[in-house]
Amino acid sequence: YRIMVCSSTGCLSSRSDEILAALEAEVKQRGLENEVLVKKVGCLGLCAAGPIVSIQPDGILYKEMTPEDVPAILDRLGGEPLEEKRIDTHQPFFTRQKKNALENAGVVDPERIEDYIATGGYAALIKVLTEFSPSEVIQEVQKSGLRGRGGAGYPTGLKWSTVAKAEGEQKFVVCNADEGDPGAFMDRSILESDPHRVLEGMIIAAYAVGANQGYVYVRAEYPLAVKRFRTAIRQAEKMGFLGQNICGTPFSFKVDVRLGAGAFVCGEETALLQSVEGNRGMPRLRPPYPAQSGLFGKPTLVNNVETYANIPAILRNGGEWFAQTGTEKSKGTKVFALTGKVKNTGLIEVPMGITLREIVYDIGGGVPDGRKFKAVQTGGPSGGCIPEELLDTPVDYESLKALGSMMGSGGMIVIDDRSDMIDVARYFMEFSMEESCGKCVPCRVGTVQLYNLLGKFQRREATEEDLKTLEELCDLVRSASLCGLGQAAPNPILSTLKYFREEYLAKIRKST
Ligand code: SF4
Repeated sequence: YRIMVCSSTGCLSSRSDEILAALEAEVKQRGLENEVLVKKVGCLGLCAAGPIVSIQPDGILYKEMTPEDVPAILDRLGGEPLEEKRIDTHQPFFTRQKKNALENAGVVDPERIEDYIATGGYAALIKVLTEFSPSEVIQEVQKSGLRGRGGAGYPTGLKWSTVAKAEGEQKFVVCNADEGDPGAFMDRSILESDPHRVLEGMIIAAYAVGANQGYVYVRAEYPLAVKRFRTAIRQAEKMGFLGQNICGTPFSFKVDVRLGAGAFVCGEETALLQSVEGNRGMPRLRPPYPAQSGLFGKPTLVNNVETYANIPAILRNGGEWFAQTGTEKSKGTKVFALTGKVKNTGLIEVPMGITLREIVYDIGGGVPDGRKFKAVQTGGPSGGCIPEELLDTPVDYESLKALGSMMGSGGMIVIDDRSDMIDVARYFMEFSMEESCGKCVPCRVGTVQLYNLLGKFQRREATEEDLKTLEELCDLVRSASLCGLGQAAPNPILSTLKYFREEYLAKIRKST
């Protein structure tokens, strides 16, 4: 038997490390070391029910475990499971998901390269280095239709080919792990659960574009992700998957970790590169794009964690295999952090094209406590709020954008009927205001003005004129800001004005 204990940040915060220790001690005391393997694994997904323990090969999942439950688990191995703690794995939360980037999450011990290799890890790298030219790797990624999972959805293969074609002896590959949206924890969970997968994706990318140095830019608030990624780098170096002459070929590549101090704007690629160079993280005008002139002025490939995590399976199974899932323009699967007023909060991976309704009601289990669904917020502070009547919209880059929201990196927050949508819009505006780097006036001053105007609505002091100013100012901040942070900051206001305008009008009526 294998007893696997979730050891990602979510379950660790509810003492899963004590359960792991209690299991190891009990197995030893009963002399079961040869029959029962206890191991720590990454996120099993249903974070709301943590700490979670998985029993294999029986396929049993237990929820809300405590160290006191340990003897009962061992007593019942191979027999009747502990019903009161058992999670129904036939519920849509599990059956409606399709895992690719999260394939190994909850399966491998993230601190053991042997576990990763045993599930086919680094096979794609060996295949690529022995059978593919760099341009054939890029062709495969282009065939897959993979688009950047950091939010903007730029075609990954096209980005890779631009960096590959750029002139320059020295090129860099950078992994953006500066996840900063409120409610988002996809990248953290992937790094904590399966760091070798991201590393393998980066090494393949470096081979394809001709880079010999990589950086992972990760926020210092993610200490477990940082620790596990550093461990992965050390192990990969020892096994010959990183460093000089990888797998005995002429290809050499090194990866270093750079810690970010938690500025949201450093998720913007030009600001991120500034920060990696040791400067204050502030965006700059593009072009030139990092693909031509990035880190230290050299051609640089920047992709996010989830994008790299998709690469090994694409190279292992072929681009066409990946493209079989999803919609015409949005291929593959997408990881979301499902949070807010929904029963099954946690980490999910779904095929592109699934509807928001299926995510909220089938996978998420709907709104708890008998409350009514009001909106779902996607895309964080750059995204928007989508109302009930649009829940049948398919999840893909274009459809969400058409609604005034965006895919973003994968934060999905469900809002129930107790929330005032002006409060929601002001919460996100406060976030953008505080995270504005101050480089350009429309964003630096505009976000403060928008925040203050929303305050007038909250206090019921707003007039018709204020509503007009609010809309004009949103337009100005959106069109005149330098980078994506400012350009997208008005989206939470614009989407609530579009779908919940009555709430704004109601506040005006009461003030006049
Ligand atoms: Fe800085 Fe905002 Fe201007 Fe971006 S839009 S450069 S975050 S002030």
